[in-house]
Amino acid sequence: MIPMLTSCSYSHKHWFQWAGGISFLALLCTLAGSRVLASSQEAVLEDSGPHLSDRILNYRIEVELDPLEKKVTGHEILTWRNQSGQALRDFCFHLYLNAFKNNRSTFIRESSSRPLWDGIEEIPDDYWGYTNVESIQVISDEESFRPQVIKREYIHPDDDNEMDRTVLRIELDQPLPAGEEIKFRIDFESRLPKGTRRTGWAEDYFFVAQWFPKIGVVQEGQWNCHQYHQSTEYFADFGVYDVSLTVPTDFVVGATGKRVDQRDNGDGTTTYRYLQEDVHDFAWTGSPRFLERKRRFSDPPLPEVDMTLLLLPEHRHLEKRYFTAIQHALHYYGTWFGPYPYETITVVDPAYRSGSGGMEYPTFLTGGANFWAPEKVLSPEGVTIHEVGHQWWYGMSANNEFEESWLDEGLNSWAESRVQKYAYPPSRFMRRLFGGIPFVFDSVEIPFETGSLASLRRGGQLDVMTRRGWEYLGRTSYRVNSYSKPEMILWTLERWLGEELMLKAMSTYFQRYQFKHPTTRDFIETINEVAQQDMGWFFEQTFFSSELVDYGIETATSKKVPDPKGVFDEDQQESAGSKEEEGEAEERYLTEVVVKRFEGARFPVEVLMVFEDGEEIRRQWDGQDRWRRYRVEKPVRLKYAVVDPERKLLLDIDPTNNSRYAKEEEGFSLATRKWASKWLFWLQNLLEMFAFIA
Ligand SMILES: [Zn+2]
Repeated sequence: MIPMLTSCSYSHKHWFQWAGGISFLALLCTLAGSRVLASSQEAVLEDSGPHLSDRILNYRIEVELDPLEKKVTGHEILTWRNQSGQALRDFCFHLYLNAFKNNRSTFIRESSSRPLWDGIEEIPDDYWGYTNVESIQVISDEESFRPQVIKREYIHPDDDNEMDRTVLRIELDQPLPAGEEIKFRIDFESRLPKGTRRTGWAEDYFFVAQWFPKIGVVQEGQWNCHQYHQSTEYFADFGVYDVSLTVPTDFVVGATGKRVDQRDNGDGTTTYRYLQEDVHDFAWTGSPRFLERKRRFSDPPLPEVDMTLLLLPEHRHLEKRYFTAIQHALHYYGTWFGPYPYETITVVDPAYRSGSGGMEYPTFLTGGANFWAPEKVLSPEGVTIHEVGHQWWYGMSANNEFEESWLDEGLNSWAESRVQKYAYPPSRFMRRLFGGIPFVFDSVEIPFETGSLASLRRGGQLDVMTRRGWEYLGRTSYRVNSYSKPEMILWTLERWLGEELMLKAMSTYFQRYQFKHPTTRDFIETINEVAQQDMGWFFEQTFFSSELVDYGIETATSKKVPDPKGVFDEDQQESAGSKEEEGEAEERYLTEVVVKRFEGARFPVEVLMVFEDGEEIRRQWDGQDRWRRYRVEKPVRLKYAVVDPERKLLLDIDPTNNSRYAKEEEGFSLATRKWASKWLFWLQNLLEMFAFIA
């Protein structure tokens, strides 16, 4: 039994409002236990539970950085448990840095529309990066099981590119039985590329990610170990990382996990040891220029967290804004979904043009800032909140990013815009002029959905959202389908279910699948279960369709009902108006409103008609046909008509056609309205050009 650091009798009312209140308590208890383990500095698979994750693996890595050669050299001892349920002879490893090895890799082949290193013609020799596995052998304490590696080969399970060396497969001379552990010693040398995509160096700044031979995941007896693609991210099992990094003594270092040891080697180098349990990756950084800033997140009843910010001197004025953003993020995500369970979080302010900004790793992430960073456009706040959010969506709820990128990026984009909405005033429109100086248009508020709708309009029809990351048509499609579209779907779902039910569904999903590998199916089933209704129709129109949503008012008119002419029977005369009393007859108006479905996706919508006397008439339309006409006869004219008046369908790509006046309003002519719509459109389209974040 593991001693508890904290009492597990939290009874704050708030937690019991959660769907997963009980599992949350269990988590806090487990969390307390795991913190004790961390302090013991022992990291072995045999540790008795309870653990947050299943800890299939354990990496003990010892490496040294040579900043002149841009090389990280050393070895890893990987202990791995075969939970596949069957004996295994072959093992697959990611060698991600080989994406940068030469211009024939799949990663670079796929990057033709956005070449690496800004597409420079002559690529210097030291820009290329690689991981070279010098040796790989099975080591074991038992004489009886010491298999030999009899085959090593590079495989390319995703494409026909025989030149790609991002996946290494090895074969043993005897199989590892189900349920047994195996221990590899892998000696490797990784040369870091010049920073261009997520990892590498920029002058004296080193951001070291995807840098060590990393074992794949076995699912249903098969290795899930994809090649490194230009748009895809990663997938790995949970375990323990115990990593010792030797760097020049003047380097300031930050990494995944908690620093548990530090040793001056007396030769101008220092070795830092980091330990983290229940994570699925490890990244680190070092530079002599970093300013290290520390604060403590204390926000009961959430667990306390040590926050470290590694700040470049030119951004020292952003320290407070970075920390405020981290605190907002830990507070809101922790409250909505479940507490952040790790002791540390380290945020790196990335070097200019290092390609490493806006990336997430367990307990470790990069923000991103321009020297001119106006507060009103939330930079670096936006990216920081986003990357902290990945601790929940990717870090703990660890879906396969290769195959279902929307499941972390989409959920996280929705969660991020939620935090921004609660913690900050709406962003303002900004343009950079004269080579980067920002001009903020204070009066132009940007609704949070503006950028995402613009991107949906541009690329929403390119692909069905739920497909594998490298199979999207291109970068635009990947961006739309991993970020903007799911974000807008989730906002639409939230408006459909209501905030309370949505948060209950999302926290249930998180707590059920944290430290696991959930899929789209798991997500849908959880939503249906918590909402207590089959939302299949909703997901068919969104997750599994590339059709866009656009409902609008095509026409809205009120015409005076003509004087009665012709032959009327006696019982018709009253409602038609008597011919004889023409002068005194009450004027009546026939209002006609035509609502149209301009795009392919079908949703039920509400239509609101507001009349001159203030009366409102609401009609429900199932939204299936191309259009629907409503006719109402009343003694007053229609003032205006609106489809989806509560703006539930946040996915509607063109909100400017959702309402229409029946006649000209004083001071707001048709021309003015058209101008206003055009301005909005121009603005939205402009936003498409803004760079997105990872
Ligand atoms: Zn992201």
